[in-house]
Amino acid sequence: MNITLETPLKDIPSVGEKRANLLEKIGLGNVFDLLFLFPRRYLDLRNFKKIGDIVPDEIASVKGKVLTREEKRFHQRNRKSYLKVAISDGSGILFLVFFNQPYLKNVFTLDKEFFINGRVEMFNGQMQMVNPLYEEYRQIKKDWILPVYPLTSGLTQKYMRRLMKFIIEKVEEYPAEILPLEERQKLNLPNIKFALQNIHFPRSDINLEKARNYLIFREFFILQLGLLLKKEKNQRISSNVSVDTGENVIDIFQSRIPFKLTKTQIQVMEDILRDIKEGKIISRMVHGEVGSGKTVIAVFALWLFSRKGYQSALLSPTEILAEQHYINWQKFFLEQDIPVALLLGQLPESEKRKIKEEIKNGKINVLIGTHTLLTETLEFRNLKMAVVDELHKFGVKQRERLKEKGEGVHYIVMSATPIPRSVALTFYGALDVSVIGEIPKGERQVGSYIFPLEEKEKVYEFIRYQGLQGKQGYVVTPAIEGNEDIESAIEEYERIREKMPEIPVAILHGRMSYTEKDEIMRRFRNKKVMVLVATTVIESGIDVPESTYIIIEQAERFGLAQLHQLRGRVGRTGDTGYCILVPYSSDDKSIMERLESFVETKSGFEIAEIDLKIRGQGDLLGVRQHGIPPLRIGNIVKDMELLGLAREKAESVIRLLPQDVIKERFLREVFINE
Ligand code: ADP
Ligand code: MG
Repeated sequence: MNITLETPLKDIPSVGEKRANLLEKIGLGNVFDLLFLFPRRYLDLRNFKKIGDIVPDEIASVKGKVLTREEKRFHQRNRKSYLKVAISDGSGILFLVFFNQPYLKNVFTLDKEFFINGRVEMFNGQMQMVNPLYEEYRQIKKDWILPVYPLTSGLTQKYMRRLMKFIIEKVEEYPAEILPLEERQKLNLPNIKFALQNIHFPRSDINLEKARNYLIFREFFILQLGLLLKKEKNQRISSNVSVDTGENVIDIFQSRIPFKLTKTQIQVMEDILRDIKEGKIISRMVHGEVGSGKTVIAVFALWLFSRKGYQSALLSPTEILAEQHYINWQKFFLEQDIPVALLLGQLPESEKRKIKEEIKNGKINVLIGTHTLLTETLEFRNLKMAVVDELHKFGVKQRERLKEKGEGVHYIVMSATPIPRSVALTFYGALDVSVIGEIPKGERQVGSYIFPLEEKEKVYEFIRYQGLQGKQGYVVTPAIEGNEDIESAIEEYERIREKMPEIPVAILHGRMSYTEKDEIMRRFRNKKVMVLVATTVIESGIDVPESTYIIIEQAERFGLAQLHQLRGRVGRTGDTGYCILVPYSSDDKSIMERLESFVETKSGFEIAEIDLKIRGQGDLLGVRQHGIPPLRIGNIVKDMELLGLAREKAESVIRLLPQDVIKERFLREVFINE
């Protein structure tokens, strides 16, 4: 029989219908799928311990001969039984307990010698392992590192190993090589045959490591190819808008705004102009730390299109932020006779209807707003530029919906999530990326400090002192399970009011009405309010440059990246800012270590890396949430270096090879999220 990658598993002699169904259940249809089912871990038979040396809770491998075996019933009348086997190596006795596998009675016959691997437990004063992995000593010939696969019930490790071995020996072809020999040698990567053989049956640690590197690289490489193909597809339809793209448009823009653009801001604007000149549909992420001045770039993009009669829209995650953009830039647009409007969910129905009407008939050119911009009843006349601020606040589907409100809509997203570049390029891989590195008006000075709960009085003293000096600041309370903790905000607000009646304090949280929030923000901006107690609603982009300090209550409940965003709210005027963390559980060492690393680190990118390493790739960034297929072997955080390499290589391959060649070679694996 010829076995190829496409051969269905049910056609393999030892498989048969029943097993084929079980294999199907874990997603394995053909030989290719099977080869890419990577071991969850390995049973390493080279390193085993004496039974006398094992301790409870460790995962250990031992070797021993069967002393006794007994079938036991749980209960007199219960028909269920389990098998209890005692093994010994002369240094001690270990009991093995197997549930629901009565046939094992005939496997663990007296005096036979086994390798055993599992978690050690102490039970009634005896050492035992429940359902451990086992391997008959006599049967081990040359494979001393055995794969352990993620399986479903009905399939045994032993069977899978035999099947895998058979396939690896018999398969007549391997998937396409990713890179030519010369390039693989440079990266110290083996060939695909070596990699697949050694990921399943490694002969040594070094071989295993090589195989892993190869397969991780391969997975990332193909992922990046898919993302890059998607990007090209996004941008292929050339747009026929007529906007000015000459160099002097930046000068014109500059002459109409109150501050001098920084060099990098200008560079990003040039990136945008270049996209248009090349006839692309813009699909670009502007990435820069909090306070790096992304808004003015968004405004530039809106302006570029709206001044020529097209419509443009800016989507913000919160009403406060949307309003702030509107307040700051309304005048700029109106002075140039460009009609601009603010659309918020909380506006009276009649007003909303009026704005929607004007958007539909094209009376308004620039629209700023929140999620309301995404409602179906909002129709644009000729939307050409969609900007999404604070991208990470929106879901994958949501963030794309605005640009779907027109034909060939140019798309720019703003992100301050300080993630390493290679990770950003993966999560947002279908976008071009512009990075703003510098922060306007020089490096911000924010000192960060930790005050445990016992020293809270000192914190109140600090707030009071600042208030008396005419300095403003925030006190932030945490979110619980993603929702803001309004109760603790109210408590804190009451406490501060009581302690320092001479200092005007106000509270801000998500359950207040729009007008209330609006009024509070206005009073804070006008320095009528000196202390603003707030839930995490202020996290997103609020910009009151005068504020000097931020106190973060129950700081341990925040992710480091989030703390960094909050820290970015203060010290913007060039004055020294203060960020004070008040952890409530300061006797927990790991919490304090985490917060201390935050205090010591200034760079958002470094913080992001620490945060990622602590939390891992899974929950924090929700790989799936970014529309990326589940990874089989690579880990975006742990294998960041290979990720960067894979991106580079994929970019050069895309430049060199025609798309159909790429698709043909990797088609079944290249993922393109439509
Ligand atoms: P981001 O959205 O990147 O966090 P913002 O766009 O809110 O940052 O900008 C932060 C502050 O810096 C704002 O007050 C803004 O007006 C100001 N700013 C932006 N660019 C410049 C510049 N080139 N010169 C001086 N101030 C600037
Ligand atoms: Mg911003």
